[in-house]
Amino acid sequence: MEFKVTILGCNSATPSHGRNQTSQVVSLGNSHLLVDCGESTQFQLRKYKVQHSQLDYIFIAHLHGDHCLGLMGLISTLHLSRRTRLLTLFGPPGLDEIITVQLKYGNLKLHYPLRFVPTDTVGKTLLVEEEHFKVFSFPLKHRIPCTGFLVEEKPRLRNLVKEKVHFGKLGIEAIITLRKGLDFLDEKGQVLYSAEEYTHPPAPLRKYAFCSDTVYDEEIIPYVQDVNLLYHEATFMNIDQIRAKETCHSTGAQAAAIARAAGVKQLLLGHFSSRYRDLDPLLLEAKEVFSETIISEEGKSFWVE
Ligand SMILES: [Zn+2]
Ligand SMILES: [Zn+2]
Repeated sequence: MEFKVTILGCNSATPSHGRNQTSQVVSLGNSHLLVDCGESTQFQLRKYKVQHSQLDYIFIAHLHGDHCLGLMGLISTLHLSRRTRLLTLFGPPGLDEIITVQLKYGNLKLHYPLRFVPTDTVGKTLLVEEEHFKVFSFPLKHRIPCTGFLVEEKPRLRNLVKEKVHFGKLGIEAIITLRKGLDFLDEKGQVLYSAEEYTHPPAPLRKYAFCSDTVYDEEIIPYVQDVNLLYHEATFMNIDQIRAKETCHSTGAQAAAIARAAGVKQLLLGHFSSRYRDLDPLLLEAKEVFSETIISEEGKSFWVE
C-alpha cells in the first residue's frame, strides 16, 4: 500500500516567496487525509491534482489562521460540488462554532453531513480507525490548544510461503490460521502445518507523525518514537532562537534534536518563517544535528517508508 505525504503549504503565518500556509494530504492507498487547511488549500489541491471529493477526514492542529483559514472555502466548494458523503472534521473546541456562524449568516445548508469531533490536549487519543490504519492526536505546546497527529498502519496478516503452499491441500481454515501466525493442528492436537514454516512475517508497520506548531518540547518524543517520517515545524533558524521560544515555535536544529532523540528514520521540516527566502541554511543547521533531514517543497510527495 502506498503511504505518502503531499505538501500543499509549508510556510508559517503569511504566504511568501511562493510558499503557502500549512496544509498537506496524507495518502494510504485509496484513503486521503487532509491535515491542516491554510488559506490556499483548495487552490493547491487543484494544482496538484488531489480530488477534494476523495477526502473523508480533515484534521486541524489548532485555530491560528495559517492552519484553518482555508476550511470554510473548502467546505463551501464541497457543497457546491454536490457532495453527499459524510465529512468528518477533527479540531480544537470552538472550530464548530466558527463554521456554524459562517453557515448561519451565509444561510447555507450543506448538501452533505459534516461531523465535528473536538480534539483535546490530554495524551494520545484515537481519532480514526479504518481497516488498514489508525489516526491519533497528541498534545503540542503552543500559544493556544494544539495537537499533533500520528498515522499508524495496523498489523497485517503474515504472508504464505509460496513454495510450501499446495493450495489443493491447505484448506481455507488452515490458511487463515497460519496467516494469523498460529500453527494449524490436526484432530489429535498435533501440529500439521507450522506458521513459522508456512508463512513469512509481514513488512514492518509504517508510521507518520505531524508536529506543527510547537515550541521545542521533549515531551513530544514518546509520541513520535521510531516513526518512519516526522514532519516537524522549523519556523526559525538558530539566530532567531529567542524569538522561537517567545512565540512557541521551534528552530530547524531543535526539530532535528527531537528527531534524533526519538530515533525517527527521516525528518521533514516545514512551517517556515517569511523572513527566510532561502531555506538552505536552515536545512544545513538541522542536518548538523540529524543528518536524515529533508525540507518540504510544495507539490512534492514524501514516502513514509
Ligand atoms: Zn502556524
Ligand atoms: Zn500557531
